[in-house]
Amino acid sequence: MPNINHPKICPICFIGRKFAFIKDYFLKQKNFSLYQCQDCQVQFYLPFKSIGDKGYEQRNIYKISEIVKPRIFRGYHKKFFKINKNFSRKMKVLDLGCGTGEFLSELEKKGCEVWGADFDSNAILMAKKYFNLKNIYALSFKDFFRNNNLPQFDFVIIFEVMQYLEDPIEFVKNVQKVLKPDGKIILSVPSRQRMMAELDRWDLPPYCLTRWNNKAISNLFSKINFKMSYICYVEQFKILVGAINAKTRLGLVNKTISISGSKGNKPSLFPKIIYFFGRYKEFIIAFLPAFILWLWGKITKRENGIIFVTLEKIHG
Ligand SMILES: [Zn+2]
Repeated sequence: MPNINHPKICPICFIGRKFAFIKDYFLKQKNFSLYQCQDCQVQFYLPFKSIGDKGYEQRNIYKISEIVKPRIFRGYHKKFFKINKNFSRKMKVLDLGCGTGEFLSELEKKGCEVWGADFDSNAILMAKKYFNLKNIYALSFKDFFRNNNLPQFDFVIIFEVMQYLEDPIEFVKNVQKVLKPDGKIILSVPSRQRMMAELDRWDLPPYCLTRWNNKAISNLFSKINFKMSYICYVEQFKILVGAINAKTRLGLVNKTISISGSKGNKPSLFPKIIYFFGRYKEFIIAFLPAFILWLWGKITKRENGIIFVTLEKIHG
């Protein structure tokens, strides 16, 4: 028996009435149940409720940016620049969930007009401090879209956002409104089909509300008449390393920052050393098992890592 019974109607597509029960979870002293809508194929956790902006902010996922200037390192950022090479001076890009702004900063260097929004006000502060970005807002997406003076964009970027949304349909409708007729949506989201998905706690509740595969993404964007024109899976090996390490992670950096207690002062070298050492330690321990899994995933065509897609309007 599932912890929580399935709803009458799907909280994502508001059409589906048939659900497959996937799994129960007990996390942060609370029960959750995961279901899959047989209509839209999206998997969602019950209770289907966001922990709110403050709850996410308290996770403090950008803490490391206080001591190390953010730079492009994620697979989806690199992939974007690999497949999109020609940027004109007038190109406008909106990054929803822009975090500390390192991606927008790269685009600005290439001559684009860049805009961004993130509910995490600490991240936006750092984006301003490090990269001097102008059109970036510490707002929820709902509030951001209330601005009637938004320009029309050539690209709307949605990296690692979908899994947190309470209302994906309303969100993609808003995205469509600010997109030029031939504009593109670039999206990334954890692949729920990946190996060892249960180990890394990366897209689990209470932070995440939904889990996605390429079919579920296609279904959602078909509602605004968009289709995938490009799909690949990034960070396949890195995510496996992360999953293997999740059990052994010590959180040394955060502890060291707390101990050195730098409040506005220039942080010492010590946490930086721990940070870089930590990254290599994880790699050394997990390298071999992750490599074997990665190879097996390649052979069996597993959709490991993070889904990266380009979406374009269906014409005609
Ligand atoms: Zn549904």
